[in-house]
Amino acid sequence: MSQPAVTVNGTHYRWPDRPLVVVCIDGGDPAYFRRFLSEGAIPYIARFERQGFSAIADGTMPSFTCPNNMSIITGTPASRHGISGNYYLDTATGKPIVMTGPELLRGDTILSRFAAAGAKVISITAKDKLRKQLGKNLDVSKGNISFSSEFASKANLKENGIENVLELTGMAQPDMYSMELSLFVLEAGIRLLEQKRPHLMYLSLTDWVQHKYAPEESEAKRFYREIDARFGRLAELGATLALTADHGMNDKSDREGRPNVIWLQDILDRKFGKGDTRVICPITDAFVGHHGALGGFVRVYCQGKAQPRDVIAAAAAIDGVEQALGREDVCRLYDLPPDREGDVAVISRADVCIGGAESEHDLSGLKGHRLRTHGGVSEARVPIIINRPLNDTYRLRVAGGTLKSYEVFDYALNGVAQ
Ligand SMILES: [Zn+2]
Repeated sequence: MSQPAVTVNGTHYRWPDRPLVVVCIDGGDPAYFRRFLSEGAIPYIARFERQGFSAIADGTMPSFTCPNNMSIITGTPASRHGISGNYYLDTATGKPIVMTGPELLRGDTILSRFAAAGAKVISITAKDKLRKQLGKNLDVSKGNISFSSEFASKANLKENGIENVLELTGMAQPDMYSMELSLFVLEAGIRLLEQKRPHLMYLSLTDWVQHKYAPEESEAKRFYREIDARFGRLAELGATLALTADHGMNDKSDREGRPNVIWLQDILDRKFGKGDTRVICPITDAFVGHHGALGGFVRVYCQGKAQPRDVIAAAAAIDGVEQALGREDVCRLYDLPPDREGDVAVISRADVCIGGAESEHDLSGLKGHRLRTHGGVSEARVPIIINRPLNDTYRLRVAGGTLKSYEVFDYALNGVAQ
């Protein structure tokens, strides 16, 4: 007898008929899959595509890590869950607020609702900043598990529902800037699938490799071979496996290898005077080594005489700007929460990124690498690959052309053929 469906934020999800593992390949741009599939380097993913389902979906804008992970795990757009970046400006206090706290996440996670209905659920992330939001209202005292590979060595029963994670995987504590940080997540997922047979498992990797290496570089291929082998293991253990990404990745450097940056705060300061506008880069986090806090989407707050329409006109005139939109327009176009939006949103072209003031960005972390980053519309297309075919209803939905990456749990639970 199967259990009744679980309703989360208005969507009914069928009880899984076997363990479901959803993997968010951070920075998993479709270009990597295209290249490595054509080279025959990722045979398991090739088999999933042949025997199951594969498509390119619209990710959540801005194409950053937190908004997309929260979309996937709640099954809703950012206008519903409220996480529209890593930072927003509290206009009452003028202070930037980090958006990684569970209290800022609106609605429930699919994991927590299933757990409350009696399912065994497991969430493993590479970076700890995502762990708390993904684990919102998840009771780890009842056999559920939530930890990060970043803090694997500190995992404990009280906070994470698990201990001795290093022993579990047989791996050393991975470095923050390494492909092992992601491989650790997958190794732990394989062991826990073997040992605990959870109903739902969410595995979220890190985009260190994709920030650093283009699809044509051998280290990128090595990483995809490694993750492909582990996806094969998860599938062989009998899981429904759904792969997606939070965002893509583009090279944003010029021919000489220098980053193509629009220093928007400097431009607006020259035009309207210092202090009149404030540019917030919502890609910013503690790990600027990946991208120097440069992305394809920024918010501008008007604090003085410059009006949003003036800022839109000034930004739209800059070479490399793809879109400059007022609050209402950007929220309508990309399904964003108005209370966490700036007065103006500026989005760059695929080969360009946007920063604040040049003096406030430290690019030394790039260490001779070309700048590869994300945040714009050009990085908001992501793969969805499931190792089982879809039923007719969901095949028709895909054909309708509106596939969103936040529907991945819906597709993997309700859409697979029984
Ligand atoms: Zn990411």
